[in-house]
Amino acid sequence: MIYDIVIIGGGPAGLTAATYGCRAGKSVLVLEKETFGGQITWSPKVENFPGFVSISGAELGDRFMEQAMEQGAGVELEEAVSVRAEGDVKTVRCVSGAEFRGRSLIIAAGAKPRMLGIEREAELVGSGVCYCAVCDGAFYKGKAVAVNGGGNSALQDALLLSEKCSKVYLIHRRDSFRGEAKLVEALRQRENLEFIMNSSITAILGEDELRGIVVKTGEESRELPVEGLFVAIGHAPDLGAFGPLIELDGSGYAVSGEDCLTRSPGVFVAGDCRRKTVRQLTTAVADGSAAALAACAWLDR
Ligand SMILES: Cc1cc2nc3c(=O)[nH]c(=O)nc-3n(C[C@H](O)[C@H](O)[C@H](O)COP(=O)(O)OP(=O)(O)OC[C@H]3O[C@@H](n4cnc5c(N)ncnc54)[C@H](O)[C@@H]3O)c2cc1C
Repeated sequence: MIYDIVIIGGGPAGLTAATYGCRAGKSVLVLEKETFGGQITWSPKVENFPGFVSISGAELGDRFMEQAMEQGAGVELEEAVSVRAEGDVKTVRCVSGAEFRGRSLIIAAGAKPRMLGIEREAELVGSGVCYCAVCDGAFYKGKAVAVNGGGNSALQDALLLSEKCSKVYLIHRRDSFRGEAKLVEALRQRENLEFIMNSSITAILGEDELRGIVVKTGEESRELPVEGLFVAIGHAPDLGAFGPLIELDGSGYAVSGEDCLTRSPGVFVAGDCRRKTVRQLTTAVADGSAAALAACAWLDR
């Protein structure tokens, strides 16, 4: 079978694209390598997605999935490893060896926050270890937190958190920040903010919930009693397999127009894997709808 639209990635962007594609009368297949619902399923609580005062990420992911399937989307638990375009047909090859063909393709493979890679980090995601201050900062109102990183994201996270948290430690492994001087200056004015430079986090403490971290400066280690750790050391998309079809920027994100079209006719990108400034649920679902409608227009041309 040749689908009208094959979507790589079953996160908010991919599942929204599936819903829009199906509702436009197209045959749609979504390929997901791990968890339908995408990275938001890691989050115990989401309070900034319009229409839901509070919902768990897992439930929101299930709802995206249910809606796409209700509209008729096909889904397969498969990891796409390459795509080749022959005329108007794109063939997606998966790790299992299976191949799926579509007249148009939407790549919605997301981007993952870079992790510190230390023990307990993965276990405590959503229970103190966070990767997005805009998403999770409000849960730490009045509490002590730490931010790790030296770029603009870390500086902005620290600024945002210093407005609501009792104490913010900003930990960076170098003696100066890569981020904007203006942000650093704004942080210097915050009385509840402490810079910890030339330092790295060596341990994360806590069984079910984060109760502190160990920070090493030179030969000295000290324990900080924080309830939240915001890791802001960058995000990484993994689009290498699709490189020949799509242009990637210096950070590995897919370059596209407002309509999510890439440099290859009939190939679109949506969500966190796309080059853009804001990576949130709202922007992922916005991309999903834009990419699907652009794909439909391309199919009907
Ligand atoms: C802990 C946490 C909390 C967050 N909280 C919030 C919040 O409160 N509010 C908010 O707006 N945003 C939040 N975010 C950010 C939000 O989750 C993302 O912006 C959003 O999920 C992006 O959607 P996406 O579909 O573009 O990508 P993703 O959600 O990353 O989905 C991409 C999917 O593609 C799959 N995939 C990747 N490569 C392949 C392949 N080769 N083959 C098949 N499948 C593939 C992945 O497994 C993944 O499921 C949070 C993120 C995290 C990690």
